[in-house]
Amino acid sequence: MPRTTCIRNADWVVAWDAAAGRHVYRQGADVVFTDDRITHVGPGFKGAVDQELSGKGRMVMPGLVNLHTHPSVMPFFKSVREELGNPKLYFTALYDGWNLFRPEPEDCVWAARQAYCEALLSGCTTLVDMCFPYPGWLDVMAESGLRIFISALYESKHWHTANGHELTYRPEPDGGKSAYDAAVKLTAEARAHKSGRLSAMIAPMAIDTCSVELIRAGLELARREKLPFQLHAGEAMAEFLEMTRRTGMTQVQLLAKEKLLGPDVTIGHGIFLDHHSWLHWYSREDVKLLAEHGCSVAHCPTPFSRYGIKLENFGAYLKAGINMGIGTDTHPHNMLEEMRTAAIMGRVAAENMHAVSTGDIFHAATAGGARALMRDDIGRLAPGAKADIVLVRLDIPDMMPAYDPLRSLIYIAADRAVSDVYVDGRQVVAEGRVLTMDHRRAATEVDATQRRILPKVPERDRLGRSAETVAPRTLPLHHG
Ligand SMILES: [Zn+2]
Repeated sequence: MPRTTCIRNADWVVAWDAAAGRHVYRQGADVVFTDDRITHVGPGFKGAVDQELSGKGRMVMPGLVNLHTHPSVMPFFKSVREELGNPKLYFTALYDGWNLFRPEPEDCVWAARQAYCEALLSGCTTLVDMCFPYPGWLDVMAESGLRIFISALYESKHWHTANGHELTYRPEPDGGKSAYDAAVKLTAEARAHKSGRLSAMIAPMAIDTCSVELIRAGLELARREKLPFQLHAGEAMAEFLEMTRRTGMTQVQLLAKEKLLGPDVTIGHGIFLDHHSWLHWYSREDVKLLAEHGCSVAHCPTPFSRYGIKLENFGAYLKAGINMGIGTDTHPHNMLEEMRTAAIMGRVAAENMHAVSTGDIFHAATAGGARALMRDDIGRLAPGAKADIVLVRLDIPDMMPAYDPLRSLIYIAADRAVSDVYVDGRQVVAEGRVLTMDHRRAATEVDATQRRILPKVPERDRLGRSAETVAPRTLPLHHG
């Protein structure tokens, strides 16, 4: 029996104007969904309903699309990596930093649960989960209740530094073939999963860790299967220098020459492109090439802002014609706070408060992410779209006043105002509490795992340093 729910007479609704291809505000509107699909957005719904919810004191908005995450590992680095970076490798901690704090594969399910809870509580309903495969991954994705695009990472060589100032690469013995095969297998399993909420994105790890052949194999697979594709590129200054040293071309120019760009291609980060002010590179082609090929960029400002690195800049990329999406990349997996950081960093980078609007950021975090995932039925409230719906409380002090409720939500209240979340018409968050997973248990397990990891840091560190030496605490710890 189909089941119909009506959220009646909401104070505010973020509705989709299909003709204009943008979100609009409506007041005093009903949002109706039957099973997993929205059937009506507008005032005065007269049809039969099985469940009626009051929209009084609520804003109804579409679920957010998190275009770039690594849930199986990032929670273990919480409280460590916020100030951990290697200045001799241009501040990133990718190569010899937070990897010292990495978990064992069997611990990863708990980090995933903690990350998924954070995402849901911030109004995220779709998440791109980019991880190296670990035991239990599919099951924990299904358990979460989220709509997830599994993105099983594979590569032909891995980052390494023996001395802390030179980036080198350790080749996989089979050139990455077995990792690629494992990714292909997981992609098929996710898509066949009975939950119906799992899909896939094809994700070779990074421009500098994958051979062109391995990237091409992934893109050809994605195109055969009509799946979206994402590749880390422009993520680090050392990566730019490595790729120009190797090929004489920037990352984007190499991808263009090899015919590896297109509207199905998302570039993860896309910060260190030829125009970036740190690089002083001679060309100004990369942003134009991405726009001309209809590519998307998954913008994740939080980790980079912690390093002192900025995308230059969100508004300019948009203006050039690049489709922008938002991802959290690291912890917290809080899409609302990420949107705030994206807005502020976008203005600071442009030195212009009008370079990017809150509407631009909200579009990126919903419809922009959906476009990158080649979906026109998520990231919007419209008849026929998936019932991925978020209810925001307007009647809590953090949201009051709410002349513009999205501003109050993004710049002030964030996840504190998210009360209820539905994915595929199924309620997964109620009154600010996750229904599908035990958030506290997940956090407790991750905390215990981090405590087990800390004593292992000296044996992992090339200089045998302790965790306290590698990542000094905010204040010195006085004993006694
Ligand atoms: Zn990433």
